Amino acid sequence: MTGYVLPPPLIASVAVLGAAARFPVRRILCVGRNYAAHAREMGQDPEREPPFFFSKPADAVVDTGADIAYPSVTHDLHHEIELVVAIAQGGADIAADQALAHVFGYGVGVDLTRRDLQAEAKDKGRPWDFAKGFDRSAPMGPLAPVSRIGHPGRGAIHLAVNGVIRQSADISDMIWSVPEVIAEASRYIALAPGDLIFTGTPAGVGPLVRGDLVEGAVAGVGEVRFRIT
Ligand code: MN
Repeated sequence: MTGYVLPPPLIASVAVLGAAARFPVRRILCVGRNYAAHAREMGQDPEREPPFFFSKPADAVVDTGADIAYPSVTHDLHHEIELVVAIAQGGADIAADQALAHVFGYGVGVDLTRRDLQAEAKDKGRPWDFAKGFDRSAPMGPLAPVSRIGHPGRGAIHLAVNGVIRQSADISDMIWSVPEVIAEASRYIALAPGDLIFTGTPAGVGPLVRGDLVEGAVAGVGEVRFRIT
């Protein structure tokens, strides 16, 4: 091979706490309905249907502190605060009891969702791609490496809009724990360095409008903050 016919795309990346170097993003996997109370608020029975996966493109990531323009083709943009796992070491069929050895670190992200397009997709049996995987749909705070924070098994997770708490739970409420999420994902695809996994959102999702200041955090992990413009 002798190069590319176009300049190759830039590598999407996320800031790393305490480092000048950034984490290169290969792809973004997301877990759906990983908190029972959120599954119920979406009209599902968490006892009957386990969590599942969907994805966003790598270049959906946006650094914390950014302004995010209200996306096109929606009138119901929703926030979903999530713990994000960054993979350093890939593999297929990873055992849950080995899974944490594959983790680079953890961050806090928001799975921005065009809820109206998602509802239409569900209704018509269509893919969720454009409801979930649109431009700038994954704002994220910096990743905290395992060497700094270890592996958080519990910790308050919350999101506030204009200073008012909308979502509040604990990451220990997740139906699939982080090791289980990694093990489960790696049954379907080989994970690789640079993969990010959004681990699902607790209850309290709701709409955002232009001008809203969104602030989220996971205790012991980090924060994310952005404004909808
Ligand atoms: Mn989500």
